[in-house]
Amino acid sequence: MADFREIYRDYLEKNHPGSDEFHQAVEEIFEDIKDEYHNDDQYDEWNVLERLMEPDRIIRFRVCWEADDGKVKINTGWRVQFHNLLGAYKGGLRFHPSVNESVLKFLGFEQCFKNALTGMPMGGGKGGSNFNPKGCSQREIMRFCQAFMRELYRHIGSQTDVPAGDINVGSTEIGYLFGEYIKIKNQWEGVLTGKNPSFGGSCGREEATGYGVIYFLKNMLKAHDKELKEKRILISGSGNVALHAAKKAIQEDAIVLSISDSGGTLYFENGMKLDDFDTLYDFKINQKGRLKDAKIGSYMEGDKPWIIKEADIALPCATQNELDEDDATELLDNGIKILCEGANMPLTDGARKKFINAKALYGPAKAANAGGVAVSGLERSQNAELNSWDIDRIDKELQSIMENIHDRCIQYVKKENDIYPYSKGANIYGFKKLAGAMIAQGIV
Ligand code: GLU
Repeated sequence: MADFREIYRDYLEKNHPGSDEFHQAVEEIFEDIKDEYHNDDQYDEWNVLERLMEPDRIIRFRVCWEADDGKVKINTGWRVQFHNLLGAYKGGLRFHPSVNESVLKFLGFEQCFKNALTGMPMGGGKGGSNFNPKGCSQREIMRFCQAFMRELYRHIGSQTDVPAGDINVGSTEIGYLFGEYIKIKNQWEGVLTGKNPSFGGSCGREEATGYGVIYFLKNMLKAHDKELKEKRILISGSGNVALHAAKKAIQEDAIVLSISDSGGTLYFENGMKLDDFDTLYDFKINQKGRLKDAKIGSYMEGDKPWIIKEADIALPCATQNELDEDDATELLDNGIKILCEGANMPLTDGARKKFINAKALYGPAKAANAGGVAVSGLERSQNAELNSWDIDRIDKELQSIMENIHDRCIQYVKKENDIYPYSKGANIYGFKKLAGAMIAQGIV
């Protein structure tokens, strides 16, 4: 049998050269499942490692749209349909200049494991464009979404692939994408999630990722005889996930000290209040403003939240690789040994290893931020039964899904130095489920 690491490294080098984020995501997961892999000859016999790494297909297309001044603009659009072993492809669309094939492969790969952890019948996928909506008018965003869907529609469907939102794709953009889809197909179907509840969306979907992070964190703290009340929390990011994590944390009587954007950090010495959330939600999500112009809290230009010393918990909720090794050292030196990921892969490889080696309580994204896709799963159920559920039902379901995800993360691992290794546990759970389905479905 070939050396374990060589199997996947060679494969990635040959077939996905230069896809750094993707390599990072694969390595993170596969290093954790090494023993599992060696314990069962079937995994080698059915070549599950290579088959797990290779997406079913990557669709790449031109998006051509007209700016307000009449100029013709071009962007690239992608959909990575990673695996549909457990259900139709499911995962968000991201519009950001940093989007490329490597980023989407890493996100799609992660999504397969995340969706497996939810216990719902969902495969993994991810898509988006290098389109930058910053500075665009509402009409330009609408025209871009329509042009994007004019190509994407032929590759998706309520039982084939069900995209949703991600960075810069919220319910407004999902509305434009959905409108174009049903216009072309002349068919109303639950082909996208994250829709406005007035036309088939689920209530609570917008809040679900951020609230889910806090529900997961509560479970994680409880399993270690700790509680959230009065804990001081550093949050990075100021998008949908960060803001709703902040809101739920405040409702749970924790003290939220910060949010941030790429320009700097907004520091709330005495904790953010629910009124501040309302102001910031309108300012960031509706008006797409920059925090330096927010006129509340104290703005720290160019700083990340991790330099704030008097805290207990870190919640990176901005984007991939936002927290590096130096940030990890700073947090650990300040005694912050509890971290839960709201964004996907927010820690660099070095930062992640630092946290795990420091025996910190570390909640990985694929578990902690799975509340968003889980409520997307509930949206699909509501669409399928032509019905809508109320917020009490959604919130109860979300809380119980997050508790179940927590329990799945510790199903195959034991406490080490009094700490559950959640990241390893989540990876083993996802691997067993995906590899098991792959073997059961034969060579296809
Ligand atoms: N983009 C979100 C995620 O990273 C949500 C995906 C979905 O709802 O399908 O999980």
